[in-house]
Amino acid sequence: MGLADHKEIKNIRPNRNILQALPKIEVHRHLEGTYPIESLFRMAQKNDLDVPGDLESFKKAFQFPKNHEPDFLLFLSKFKKFWYKSIDDVAGIAYDSVKSFADESLHYIELRFNPLHFTELTGLNPKDVTRTIIDSSNAAAAENSMEIRYLLTFNRSVQTASEMLKTYKDLLDIDLTGVVGIDLAGDEINYPPELFPEFFDVIKKDGLFKIDIHAGEVTDSKNMWVSIDQLHTDRIGHGVAAINDKKLQNVLKEKNIFLAQCITSNYQTGAWKDEKTHPIKPLTEAGVPITLASDDPTIQDSLLVDDYEKAVSNFGWSVEDLISSNIKSIDGCFLTDKEKTDLTDSYSKAIDRFRAGTGL
Ligand SMILES: [Zn+2]
Repeated sequence: MGLADHKEIKNIRPNRNILQALPKIEVHRHLEGTYPIESLFRMAQKNDLDVPGDLESFKKAFQFPKNHEPDFLLFLSKFKKFWYKSIDDVAGIAYDSVKSFADESLHYIELRFNPLHFTELTGLNPKDVTRTIIDSSNAAAAENSMEIRYLLTFNRSVQTASEMLKTYKDLLDIDLTGVVGIDLAGDEINYPPELFPEFFDVIKKDGLFKIDIHAGEVTDSKNMWVSIDQLHTDRIGHGVAAINDKKLQNVLKEKNIFLAQCITSNYQTGAWKDEKTHPIKPLTEAGVPITLASDDPTIQDSLLVDDYEKAVSNFGWSVEDLISSNIKSIDGCFLTDKEKTDLTDSYSKAIDRFRAGTGL
């Protein structure tokens, strides 16, 4: 086959099977939003919960409805805490979730979770929950030959900065190997970042973990500026507001602060209502560090591969564009330089296998 023929094949719009098989790097996904719906259904039956008894009605009740118009409150209402009755339930849901990532060809993932999400209704101990989730997820990741790291999420609508600090200090008692970052999530409108320097000053000073702040998702860019200037953020969740702030784009470039953007999630929450004009394309073209992520696949009834499909159909991205976007994303991972080099190596090998398997 000549070079021209080869190039022609590469320019063919990739189908879903190809996109599904493409090895992926993902750094923004919430455990609480990614349980396989069938596992959740089984657990609800086992725990005798008052939920619809057939899978289709169950899905309707707990997933964002397909083709529904954007609705932030409806989106948030789908997150429930009543599923678990025991630490074994938590272990099982973490294991099943990570096990399912093989279907999406995740090569490396940074998975985030809020320990308090699992303790509020169960009375479980946040330390036990944290260690259990990490152990179960590590076991599933090893079976998938996948690399995994963790972020601990703190919910700005649930805890004050000093309460967060107390939870953080308690968690430092246990072995947190594998945890690479601290995440601030929740309602950024009513609980803006300027309420939290007291907590993030300590995280920065301790230097044990990187910082990732959800900001500029449903607000203007001010929350992103405050996250950078006062919360020392290393990465930003969503940050769609950067599209209207050139000065901020330059700072993101200078400081190499990645935005993890999520096309489907941003549509459903109303953060960005037209998927065809999503800022990820112009921001990428402007050289802003960007990584494509899913956020909450099960709540969204949409996998990371659906976001890849949207990047292809809406922005004309090719497989090569997606591969180079993944390679660039490695620099936005919360890893040491040595680990990033190793990940680049192992990812390149996975891409070689993908090319051999698909003929691309
Ligand atoms: Zn998120």
